[in-house]
Amino acid sequence: MDTTDHTIDKAYSYRDIERKWYAYWKENGLFHSEPDRRTPYSIVIPPPNITGALHMGHALNNTLQDILVRYKKMQGFNVVWIPGTDHAGIAAQNVVERQLAQEGLSRFKLGREKFVERVWEWKKKSGDAIVHQLMRLGVACDWTRQRFTMDEGLSAAVKEVFVRLYNEGLIYRGEYMINWCPRCLTALSDLEVEHRDEDGKLYFILYPYPDLKGGITVATTRPETMLGDTAVAVHPDDQRYREAIGKTVVLPIADRQIPIVSDPAVKVDFGTGAVKITPSHDFNDFEISKRHSLALIQVIERSGRMTAGAGKYQGMDRYRAREAIVERLQKLGLLVRVEDYRLSAGRCYRCSTVTEPMV
Ligand SMILES: [Zn+2]
Repeated sequence: MDTTDHTIDKAYSYRDIERKWYAYWKENGLFHSEPDRRTPYSIVIPPPNITGALHMGHALNNTLQDILVRYKKMQGFNVVWIPGTDHAGIAAQNVVERQLAQEGLSRFKLGREKFVERVWEWKKKSGDAIVHQLMRLGVACDWTRQRFTMDEGLSAAVKEVFVRLYNEGLIYRGEYMINWCPRCLTALSDLEVEHRDEDGKLYFILYPYPDLKGGITVATTRPETMLGDTAVAVHPDDQRYREAIGKTVVLPIADRQIPIVSDPAVKVDFGTGAVKITPSHDFNDFEISKRHSLALIQVIERSGRMTAGAGKYQGMDRYRAREAIVERLQKLGLLVRVEDYRLSAGRCYRCSTVTEPMV
């Protein structure tokens, strides 16, 4: 007579069942495979960022991958699912910086070496938690092939791919405008910049013709960038400036001559309809500069201070420089008027500093 107890628990006991079988699968190498004559089927996990723990979205996408690899395996394919984690550069750095802030530290106080050490410590902690979570999910990953995006092997692969794409003419290196946080000293993606309307001023400045008989009045919310102007632009259909296109004006303070160009991107109803073009510090101006082959002059550096290109304003904070330049324009009699103006300011989502467009 069979005396074994065949009753099944009323409730599913994941504690007993899942841990036991996952350990069995792993110990017996059931997720491991080597190339052979079977048709291969492989998935590289979209590596989770080491910025914390996994969430519901990971539970879903890893379940889907798990279903696929197990299904293909049953169909006779030679299956491998390669797990790994992603270093998530700036996002991971931000997590560690927030921890440091709680200890009254910063990455600058700590120094590069110690900071990098802290990031690696965090990588170990978060990476381990993620791997543990994936295992608890029961994923059929080949853990003998686990990778990290900053592994030497993966770094070499990235280099190899980029060099190949470059050699095939599919990618190129060029100048590109990005959002820059002068406090975090890092580039921000468009999603990391918060735009809101704020009170500002619109400054109307006269750029005289070389013979000093009149000139063109431009309107700008950022007079400090004028030292980097390389053109004045008007709309091609704007009758007011028909005669001016092709002429030059003298850029006040900087005492350089710059051309007046026509471009359809200029808004006729903004200010006077004539705008200063600062390709190094404005997204639209950068685009316009490419169409007219205008020079790029950087006048604000990464810390938000003025560069050597700003002449005697070098080293000044960008807002201090604004005051000084407006004062100077006033003395020269070139500040036509100042109006209150609602402007859209971009701020860093981490520290709320006004971002700087930077090439
Ligand atoms: Zn910031």
